[in-house]
Amino acid sequence: MSAAWREHRLRTGPRGPGLDVHELDSGVPGPTVVILGGVHGNEVGGIVAAGRLTRKPLPLRAGRLRVVPVTHEAAYQADSRVGPGDGLNLARVFPGRADGSDTERLAHLVTERLLRTADVLIDLHTSSPETEMPLFAGCLDDGSEAASRAVGLAVAFGAPVVWTHGSLGPGRTLTVARDLGIPAIYAESPMGGVLDDRNLDAYVSGVRRVLADLAMLPARPARTATVPVWLHGDGDVDMFSQATAGGMFHAEVALMDRVQAGQPVGTVVDPQARVLQHILATAAGHVVTLRRRAHVHPGTPVAGIAATRPASLGLPSDALVPSGALR
Ligand SMILES: [Zn+2]
Repeated sequence: MSAAWREHRLRTGPRGPGLDVHELDSGVPGPTVVILGGVHGNEVGGIVAAGRLTRKPLPLRAGRLRVVPVTHEAAYQADSRVGPGDGLNLARVFPGRADGSDTERLAHLVTERLLRTADVLIDLHTSSPETEMPLFAGCLDDGSEAASRAVGLAVAFGAPVVWTHGSLGPGRTLTVARDLGIPAIYAESPMGGVLDDRNLDAYVSGVRRVLADLAMLPARPARTATVPVWLHGDGDVDMFSQATAGGMFHAEVALMDRVQAGQPVGTVVDPQARVLQHILATAAGHVVTLRRRAHVHPGTPVAGIAATRPASLGLPSDALVPSGALR
């Protein structure tokens, strides 16, 4: 028999921000999986995918799920990437501060009340209305045991692209998960700001595959032997080609195209279609972020290039074996 979803609210204080948690407890010992949507309030795909998860009966046979469709409610209400009151990006202020601004207090609440008791984190993001990204699952891959398990879960998610990172910038949900020793993955998808059924279905089925991989759902398919495209890199600013002129960006490559260092990725043009700048790829790899909004200023990143994972890194030992099978 399927357990029922229950909802409760976590609060930072009587007048502070809070969030709604949808919990499904199998009543059987097993992992606690936290699933976050809406860390960025304008990334509606992750919000509705998380919401859809809580509307379907799940034959959970071990552990418990804690799903937060809207992590930053004020940012969601403002259709914004940042908190409307403090201007802060929730995904840059973890682990947060109990006595900080609303966004910092929210990060502290998520850290203390959700992540500290979690065994696995799944953070559902999307691309933005300005910049396109492919459907992928990403995670830290720094050689630690938790990261090795996260790589396996990112593969299990079943996206056509996996992007692993040798290190993480400060303030992310994945950063605090790393510090707590918790395997954590995140997902991104194209058409940011739009509810697209292919992306929503990919997120819902991806989460279900991760739960199956953790032996929390009955079906536990073998992981595919290969990841269609496996990227590796830190995702820092070095990989971004930037506009140096103000004007309008016109892309000459498509998302996930393979490019060589120095290859043109697009131009910045003026209203008379005169070319103000030829923008070149900063590195060899796949185009993993591509600006779709034309207007750019000097310094606007327009294309992000990520390298294919080098074979010398090898495969984490459990990347191709369902993690539920290891216990
Ligand atoms: Zn995001």
